[in-house]
Amino acid sequence: MVTIDSLRKILELEYKKGYGDKAVIGGLDKYLHKQAGQIRQSINNQQLLAEFDNFSLANSNYGSSNVDKRKKWIMRVFDWLNQLEEAKQISKPKEKMLGKPPIVTAKSHPRKKNYGLDSPITIIRGIAPTIANKFAKLDVRTMHDLLYFFPRRYVDYSQRKLIAELEEGKEQTIICTIWQARIATFGNRRGTEAIVGDETGNIRIIWFNQPYLAKRFTTNAKVVISGTVFSFKGRKVFESPEWEMLEEKELIHTGRLVPVYPLTQGLYPRQVRKWTKETIDGWAWQASDFLPLEIKTRCQLLDLPEALAQIHYPNDYLIAEKAKKRLAFDELFLLQLGVLAKKRDWQESQPGNAFNIHQEVIDKFLHCLPFTLTHAQERVLGEILADLKQPKAMSRLLQGEVGSGKTVIATLALLMAVANGYQGALMAPTEVLAEQHFNNICDYLSKASTQKKGTDNNIKRYIGFLSQPLTIALLIGSLNDNEKENLHCKIKQGEIDIIIGTHALIQKEVEFYKLGLAVIDEQQRFGVLQRSALRQKGFNPHILVMTATPIPRTMALTLYGDLDLSTIDELPPGRQTVKTRFLEPGYTEKAYSFLHRQVSKGKQAFIICPLIEESEVLEAKAVTTEYEYLCREIFPDLKLGLLHGRMPPSDKEKVMRRFRERELDILVSTSVVEVGIDIPNATVMLVEGADHFGLSQLHQFRGRVGRNKEQAYCILIPENLSTEAKARLRLMEKIHDGFALAQKDLDLRGPGEFFGTHQSGLPDLKVAKLSNLHLLELARREAINLFQRENNLEKPEYHLLKQRLSKVWAKDVEWS
Ligand code: ADP
Ligand code: MG
Repeated sequence: MVTIDSLRKILELEYKKGYGDKAVIGGLDKYLHKQAGQIRQSINNQQLLAEFDNFSLANSNYGSSNVDKRKKWIMRVFDWLNQLEEAKQISKPKEKMLGKPPIVTAKSHPRKKNYGLDSPITIIRGIAPTIANKFAKLDVRTMHDLLYFFPRRYVDYSQRKLIAELEEGKEQTIICTIWQARIATFGNRRGTEAIVGDETGNIRIIWFNQPYLAKRFTTNAKVVISGTVFSFKGRKVFESPEWEMLEEKELIHTGRLVPVYPLTQGLYPRQVRKWTKETIDGWAWQASDFLPLEIKTRCQLLDLPEALAQIHYPNDYLIAEKAKKRLAFDELFLLQLGVLAKKRDWQESQPGNAFNIHQEVIDKFLHCLPFTLTHAQERVLGEILADLKQPKAMSRLLQGEVGSGKTVIATLALLMAVANGYQGALMAPTEVLAEQHFNNICDYLSKASTQKKGTDNNIKRYIGFLSQPLTIALLIGSLNDNEKENLHCKIKQGEIDIIIGTHALIQKEVEFYKLGLAVIDEQQRFGVLQRSALRQKGFNPHILVMTATPIPRTMALTLYGDLDLSTIDELPPGRQTVKTRFLEPGYTEKAYSFLHRQVSKGKQAFIICPLIEESEVLEAKAVTTEYEYLCREIFPDLKLGLLHGRMPPSDKEKVMRRFRERELDILVSTSVVEVGIDIPNATVMLVEGADHFGLSQLHQFRGRVGRNKEQAYCILIPENLSTEAKARLRLMEKIHDGFALAQKDLDLRGPGEFFGTHQSGLPDLKVAKLSNLHLLELARREAINLFQRENNLEKPEYHLLKQRLSKVWAKDVEWS
């Protein structure tokens, strides 16, 4: 009760001193913000607690209120303190309460008392179902979502100025009196014009629309104005600034760091701020802090409710950063713990299948290859075989540049599964890629054995390679129903040893006879959850994930913390580097004629159109326009194809197939072509708007060409050639190592632009940036530390953490 007593004493002093905010050094707000939590904890009466939360001590705004408001507020708190006193006299509570006025609880938010964080946002007054639908587009449905609906940035309106001090071109705030406000017309639009003043002068304000403001701004009203000052005919003027009546509760649109939210059509910033403020004030304290105290202390993290309050309405930039740190830590920490738990579950729930390593099979296969393995390939093969020998399921990520020879290694692993009497599956992200793998592996096998002709195109049988015949099949969507059913049946009965396909392979209809190894090519679309689903197909198969997107080690460990890491960091000898040049904007013609010459030599080319981040629809439109323009104006004599993300998958497959079969000379595409398609005859990669892409992505594009002995070219055409863009594109000319580029990319561009977690099936990272290696490592260390000590989080102090963990990881698997 010490805190309650001192609160009373301080308020009494403040009252005696005439509400001058002199009672505590540093001001009452600062004191309250600090003490609110403790005071709150000492209250055990539910009703009083609800009312207490209405004072929102942790966010009190006493300092910026006028005397009248201060007085009212203090009187309310006194009233409440008195009730608290009485509630304590539990001995004769009834008599004591007699004659007292009824408790006026939670008048401003009468409805929120009994509502938890899971409540729909419609419990907030003003959020009608139509508005809730708009929020749903932003993935905000519950009060909890709204608490975690973070601003994208802040506008700094904290610089309070007198009118005479206002400077042009800066964001500033004034507190002023309205002298006059009227509806004005600007062209054919109606807006508002006002003249306001303070003791140092007057200034004109115009709003180009919002004529209704004229009515709100009655003469002599006090308002806060925040915005940028411009000069018009030599006089200063505010144009369409933010405004707020001074007597309103607490400034949220002006006079502070004002949050800017990512909005959707039909949601307006002022409304949304009002609602987020109400949410913070009324609900932030309910966000139970699930982080163990010792971790919070060790890592110097803010309490959760405070972090939530400060990330929305920060007192200053410094605390905003601290709030972000706390929330980012949460994300990474939960991600790590989840990933660690998954790995443990896989490895402990079922024993894995230990394979015998048939060295003679490996030797025979390698002997038939037209090349020898690189050192890196050999090393990685060793790592994989060592895993396969273990009676626990392998979980391995195989990283390696495009063309570094991952498929050969995967093929060897698949053969090992078959030699041990298991089935092996290889999954690719697209049908074209699946076909590519099927053809490659069949090629390898036909060199090592005799093929027995079957009737089906998509099933091949090889004799004399293993001691038993080896059957390999391609399962893709374009097979007819009969063929599919036939395959399903054969897979189930164990008549197929190696199955190659798209992720259709892990759908319900496909039952394996005895799946021992699954290889997943191009990891982006196969996240943790998909791997989890795959394991549930029985037999706890070994899993090998392959990726050509190089990821720096720390990042890989975080995102794929459930996987062990192998890297092929060496290309087969004799590979040409792709000659890379960037052109100044305006030299596009030159690039086109170069491309034309290559095509007349019988080569093919890619043209990648600029990235449009806001929308796939716009991007599709832009690439279609560009395609039509190129067909008509630039290459009327050539055959062009078009590829973008909005096309139905079957159309995409068709175009890629036509390109591969040389029916098309040039493929005009959005970035969808990034994923490992192999067109050896393509020698030119032309990227338009190259400044919009990250280095890693450009490198991926470049990897589409130069896949044989032929000299290949990559031409980068930036839209704007800033100094920064120039520097980045220079790196592309010089550096041909994907890992080095990835690291540069991180250094230069930073953030999660580099690698979205979206497709990976991991919980979303809203605040955390994967480029923040320091925080990443901190979170990972703490997670491992805790996980090793408290493997099951059984102790009561981890109850909240466990709850939160299962919430974050509860997402359903998406088979997109
Ligand atoms: P990735 O899947 O890593 O992009 P692939 O496995 O498709 O690469 O290999 C690319 C090409 O290089 C294939 O044509 C393959 O036969 C060939 N290749 C693989 N390993 C070697 C090697 N050690 N020496 C020469 N060529 C190789
Ligand atoms: Mg590949």
